[in-house]
Amino acid sequence: MKKISLSIISLFCILFVTAQRKTQNLVIVTLDGMRWQEIFGGVDSAIIVNKKFTRDSQQITKFFSGSDISERRKKLFPFLWGTLCQQGQLYGNRWEGSNVNNANPYWFSYPGYNEIFTGYPDSAINSNNKNLNPHENVLEFINKQSGYNGKVAAFSTWDCFPYILNKWRSGIYVNSDVDSIHLNAPGMQLVNDMQFLSPRPIDVRPDVLTYFAGREYLKAYKPKVLYIAFDETDDFAHGGMYDQYLKSAHSEDAMIADLWNTLQSMPEYKNCTTLLITCDHGRGDKIKEQWTSHGSHVEGSNQIWIAAMGPDTKPLGEIKNNPQLYQRQIATTIAALLGFNFKPSHPVIEPIQTILP
Ligand SMILES: [Zn+2]
Repeated sequence: MKKISLSIISLFCILFVTAQRKTQNLVIVTLDGMRWQEIFGGVDSAIIVNKKFTRDSQQITKFFSGSDISERRKKLFPFLWGTLCQQGQLYGNRWEGSNVNNANPYWFSYPGYNEIFTGYPDSAINSNNKNLNPHENVLEFINKQSGYNGKVAAFSTWDCFPYILNKWRSGIYVNSDVDSIHLNAPGMQLVNDMQFLSPRPIDVRPDVLTYFAGREYLKAYKPKVLYIAFDETDDFAHGGMYDQYLKSAHSEDAMIADLWNTLQSMPEYKNCTTLLITCDHGRGDKIKEQWTSHGSHVEGSNQIWIAAMGPDTKPLGEIKNNPQLYQRQIATTIAALLGFNFKPSHPVIEPIQTILP
């Protein structure tokens, strides 16, 4: 009798939890090497007046500067601080006691993206070389679930993503750099032509073309999980071009706003899609001009941030004084948002509970 009533209770709980969860689609966006310092503090007034890093200080000051932190960060990231902050959650403001870190010991791209998607900061993943990732990733796991097969797609600027996500094994659609876009969708031919004619200022296709390829794919194929990986911020920071780093960040924020508006205009996505935004690694501080760089030799470049917004994520805004979070929790969080329990053969840890219903 006790057994029966317990099963009825657990069945009720399952139904209740399922009914509670509204997320049916997930969109993930990453900004490569985007510092939390600018996300939460806006432009750094010391770096914008340094002619070595900012050629036209006056113009950048006019665009992005402000009398306080909240004005500055909103000028640089209008969507994050105008919309997402009202409707979602932002983690990573260390000035307010919100710490998010890489768990991997390397603090550069491949180990970071591996950690995001496999949840496993494997110390053997230690280079940016085009090595096939041996570990199952959460996008691959979702693609195997009923109703999701063939409904998971990734668009990236950096041409290492087919290897990081191991598209040959995972079976998910990955379109990177100048992979021709053989898709039957309006606008695709134009994007395809433009990526081959682009002057490629960072030696891969510009982020805006990665974005348009992803957006047009979304409209035509209606994936349930879409990942867009931007890259320009990292490249311009390495080049010591603080002005261009800021402009790329601002433009990526605008593309995310356009993406969110597109999602909310489509019945398949409206009010049933969660948006998750993060980065692969941080960068150094302005002291000793280390903001241009990252890696285990650069202090603080393991400091990252996470933003989330959707029908199941409470509108808590900027999170303060939260327990330490790690990048590896994103993998299990992605699965949990869609109601799945990501349990690969490698070790993973619990999702970020506060993002979930
Ligand atoms: Zn880098």
